[in-house]
This record gives sequence, structure tokens and C-alpha cells, in this order.
Amino acid sequence: MLDLAIIGGGPAGLTAGLYATRGGLDNVTMFEKGMPGGQITGSSEIENYPGVTGEISGMDLMMPWPEQCQKFGLKHSMVEVLSVEHKSDGTFTIHKGDRTSEDALAVVICTGSTPKRVGFKGEDDLFGKGVSTCATCDGFFYKKKEVAVIGGGDTALEESLYLAKICSKVYLVHRRDKFRAAPNTIKRVMETENIELVLNATPEEVYGDAMGVTGLKVNTAEGIRDIPVPGVFTFVGMNVNNEVLKKEDDSAICELNEQGEVIVDLRMRTSTPGLFAAGDIRIVAPKQVVCAAGDGAVAAISAIAYIDEKLNG
Ligand code: FAD
Ligand code: NAP
Repeated sequence: MLDLAIIGGGPAGLTAGLYATRGGLDNVTMFEKGMPGGQITGSSEIENYPGVTGEISGMDLMMPWPEQCQKFGLKHSMVEVLSVEHKSDGTFTIHKGDRTSEDALAVVICTGSTPKRVGFKGEDDLFGKGVSTCATCDGFFYKKKEVAVIGGGDTALEESLYLAKICSKVYLVHRRDKFRAAPNTIKRVMETENIELVLNATPEEVYGDAMGVTGLKVNTAEGIRDIPVPGVFTFVGMNVNNEVLKKEDDSAICELNEQGEVIVDLRMRTSTPGLFAAGDIRIVAPKQVVCAAGDGAVAAISAIAYIDEKLNG
């Protein structure tokens, strides 16, 4: 029986692992389906992690985190978790994609969030063939070519700036004329010569041929505008990854809000004793690396107290 199972190895999960092991728990496993680091590893630049100055990519920021945790005894299992079962004796069973399972006294859920699809014609068919949600991964394919970016939040604007350094031109397509990104980021976008703002425009259709995307049609007040580009990057927000909390009847093992986010208190306790949540998955998450890490520390401290109470009364 594990003392603590941590599901997800982004900033929240890794920090929970660091605090849990360094805080005295002997038997802690972090289950991560890919490489540890989380979604920030797909970001070309992070400039708001305290104490880290200069240009640094998300990948570089996260690189030392797993090693630091392992030093204190965190075990990493590279496997997808399918579901977390809450049993009648109050413990948990982690059901894994390799068809095995493990029991745990307590669980911290840190499965984060995943990019939303926009919902225009051709998006799914051409996904991975010119439609992308990762500029760091795919931007290089469009070196000295023109691309379109869809969205008006921090991600869309930051990734437009990144793409503008590689591509000859970036069309930034947004459905309103106001951006919700940070003011400093908006200023940088406005000052970048090869970013053209296509405002009050909703994407209608991405089209292409056997080689992939060849263009994007957007709906504007003046009618349909055709933007002939080989790459379309979509950044329209995130969905929380709460599937592991779902039972067969689609109800969850703890309370969620209407958006599917996990309801927690200030100690990251969910409505189910022994189950904690941290990072982007929780209600009112600021969706920042520093906040996810802070949540992970709080969740681990709470889990240690819960396990101590359970074992020693
Ligand atoms: P995540 O980072 O999403 O990590 C969750 C982890 O859980 C993932 O590694 C995933 O593989 C794993 N996982 C999910 N489901 C399962 C499962 N069933 N089984 C096993 N493993 C699973 N924040 C900033 O502070 N500054 C920035 O500049 C910034 N830039 C960003 C740029 C981009 C392009 C994006 C997408 C986000 C950015 N963010 C930024 C937001 C930041 O990345 C997130 O707030 C943060 O990563 C959330 O951490 P997390 O640990 O909660 O979740
Ligand atoms: P977001 O802030 O939710 O912005 C999503 C954008 O996409 C909005 O501009 C929205 O338009 C647009 N949009 C949504 N659905 C659309 C649709 N169907 N068609 C067209 N446009 C659509 O998402 P995000 O930029 O991914 O950011 C997610 C969170 O991570 C935020 O909290 C953000 O602050 C944080 N983050 C922070 C940083 C940073 O601190 N540097 C970097 C990246 C992300 P409207 O504006 O009209 O709603």
C-alpha cells in the first residue's frame, strides 16, 4: 500500500512529490503518463517564475524538478492512470493503463488541463497536418513562411511573439477587438511588425490538400476573408483533465463544479477525505506555474497530516 499516490507530474505533482517525500512519507509514487514537467514544457518562454530571470523556455525551467524530487525518494511510474477508486474502507485504488492497480492511503490529483479545440470545419481532420496547439513543437516547420494564430489570451499572444521570430508573418485572429492577455504582452504584440491583427473575426474553415493545410477562412464584418497559410495554431483555452475521478455512471468520486473543476478548500482538500487536488485542475486556479507548485506543496502538507491522523489516531 502506497502512503501517497500523486496523479500527474506537472509543476503541481512534482512539488507535491518533493514536499511529501522531504516531509517524511516513505512510500510515494507519482504517476505520469509522459515525461514529467507538464504543459509548460510546451511553452517557448516563461518570464514570470519568481527568481528566474532572462529568457528561459518551459522545458528548461522544468528540467531539474524531477531530479530534485527523486533525491528525496519520490518514485516515478510512467503510466497513464485510468481511474481512481475510493473504497469503502477509505483507501484508494489507482487503476492504470497497463491493466494493473495499486492501493494508496491518500491521493493528490494534479492532472492539469489540455488545450480546447476551437470547433471550426476541418480542424479535427487537419490536426497534426498543419493545425497545431504547440508553437514550440511545430513552429520550426513554418520557418520564413506565414502562419495564423487563433485566440486572444496570454497563450495566443505569447506564442504569436514566438512564431513571429521564426515565421515571415503571423496573422493573429481574434473573435473580439480586446485581448485578455497581460498588458505587457499586448504591448509587445502591437510593437511587432510582422504580426497582423485580424480582429472581430471568427474562424470558419481550415482547408488543405494531401500535403496538409493550405489556408484558413475567417468570418469578418466585411464577409469571409481567406488567409492562405500552411500553418494554423489554435490557443483558445483549456479543459481540465478530470476523467480519472469519474466512476462508470459518470459521477465523480468528489465534488466538481459546472466546469468540471475539483472543488477544494484552502488546504487543497476535496469533499472526499484523503483525496487532495492541486494546480490547474482545481476551482479558481490562476493557471500559473508558481500557483500550481504552491498548491502541490499545500496538498502534500495536508496529505501528510491526514495520513498521520489515519495511522496514529
Ligand atoms: P499540468 O502542467 O497540466 O500537468 C499535468 C500533468 O498530468 C501532465 O504532465 C499530464 O501528462 C499528466 N496527466 C494528465 N492526466 C494523466 C493521467 N490520467 N495519468 C497520468 N498522468 C496524467 N504559466 C505561467 O506561470 N507562466 C507562463 O508563462 C505560462 N505560459 C504558458 C504557455 C503555454 C503554451 C501553456 C499551455 C501554459 C502556460 N502557463 C504558464 C500555464 C502553466 O503551464 C500551467 O498553469 C501549469 O503547468 C499547471 O500545472 P499542473 O501541474 O496543474 O498541470
Ligand atoms: P484563455 O485566457 O481562456 O483565452 C482563450 C482565448 O481564446 C480568449 O481570447 C477567447 O476569446 C478565445 N476563444 C475561446 N474560445 C474560442 C472559440 N471557440 N473561437 C474563437 N476564439 C475563442 O486561455 P489561454 O490563453 O490558454 O490561458 C489559459 C490560462 O493560462 C489563463 O488563465 C492564462 O492567464 C494562463 N496563462 C498565463 C500565462 C502567463 O502568465 N504568461 C501564459 C499562458 C497562459 P474571448 O477573449 O473573446 O473570450
